[in-house]
Amino acid sequence: MQTLRRFLSANFLLLCGLLILTSTLACAQTNDASPVSAKARAIHDSAIVVDTHADTPQRFLDDNFDIGSTDPRDIGHISLDKARAGNLGAEFFSIWVEPETNQGHFAQHTLDLIDSVYQQAARHPDRMMMAFSVDDIERAHKQKKLAALMGIEGGHSIENDIHLLRDFYRLGVRYMTLSWSNTNEWADSSGDIDNPKIQHHNGLTDFGKQVVLEMNRLGMMVDISHVADKTFWDTIATTKAPVIASHSSARALSNAPRNMTDDMLRAVAKNGGVVDVNFFAGFLDQNYWNAAQAQQKEQEAATHDYLEKLKAEGKQVTFADEDRITREWMAKIPRPPFTVLIDHIDHIAKVAGVDHVGLGSDFDGVSGATPAGMDSAADLPKITQALLDRGYSSEDNHKILGGNVMRVFREVERVSREMQAQKAPLDR
Ligand SMILES: [Zn+2]
Repeated sequence: MQTLRRFLSANFLLLCGLLILTSTLACAQTNDASPVSAKARAIHDSAIVVDTHADTPQRFLDDNFDIGSTDPRDIGHISLDKARAGNLGAEFFSIWVEPETNQGHFAQHTLDLIDSVYQQAARHPDRMMMAFSVDDIERAHKQKKLAALMGIEGGHSIENDIHLLRDFYRLGVRYMTLSWSNTNEWADSSGDIDNPKIQHHNGLTDFGKQVVLEMNRLGMMVDISHVADKTFWDTIATTKAPVIASHSSARALSNAPRNMTDDMLRAVAKNGGVVDVNFFAGFLDQNYWNAAQAQQKEQEAATHDYLEKLKAEGKQVTFADEDRITREWMAKIPRPPFTVLIDHIDHIAKVAGVDHVGLGSDFDGVSGATPAGMDSAADLPKITQALLDRGYSSEDNHKILGGNVMRVFREVERVSREMQAQKAPLDR
């Protein structure tokens, strides 16, 4: 694949030289990451690399995917081999419950996905371990194992029940994204904020604020990726601990409603939190975003027809089915250059500070639509090289690669201990 792309890139370069009218997007295809030097590799390998968002559990559950897979044709971003090649130390596996197909049993599906992560760790005890704290991440690193953590993506998973929130914490969930693309009964989402048919709450409801405080008390990180702008500001005003954006990029560079404005970036810095950059091409590159928007209606219709056809054949429709067709549509749009990913890290580091930016890849959740050169966790060292090229020090790199997230997680753990020492659990 890599060789083929290089060949194509050379042709693009030739075309760009010959045809003055060739779009800049096509020319940009030549702009892959630079090769990783021995120095960059050493800096990268001495870091604890933490990624705060991968959708691999859908593959575990729906496709029976084994993270120990060595299949060279596997299209996934994450396997134990790929993680080792990229020195990925800790992954927050996303527990994402598709809200339409799981209507009526959100909590059950949440439990199924949590189980799928435990099953993988049980299958590979020599190379992977469940982790629930910063100490666990460090322990896994020493043992050269991938630390597997979990974050729930979408507050609908708790079914408006704070008892369930506590149960999910007990099962090991260490962050929750307050909403996914769907507004739930207590938090507005950026994904449907313009849809008048959806009942909105002007941000977080009183119960939503109670959820945030209970997460603080439990020691579960509050994740503001996906939420509507007002929900973000309500959360910042409510939380007693630093927040994370587990997979969000900068709106100043790509105007997607779920990216963060510069004011939001500064507010997260003030709060002591971290914004972990999403690798989805549309959130990184305005051209890609515009092209994806332009084909969205047609894509949705084609997806609908395809899924209905499967249903008519009596087949159980899975995430993999939807992903298959989404990949075809995403592949119609040229991938942006690797540099767009670095532009976002750089922008957030400049606006919020180098202590407030990290990695939230969204691996296995973007239907293959990542910038050129970022094909799996094995490509993570290219980020270190690119940041060094832009003048970031090895210390800065360590912060961005995982140190910042670990600092925030530790602070969330500290606030939790402090709150638990102070008062009894909220009884509701
Ligand atoms: Zn997401």
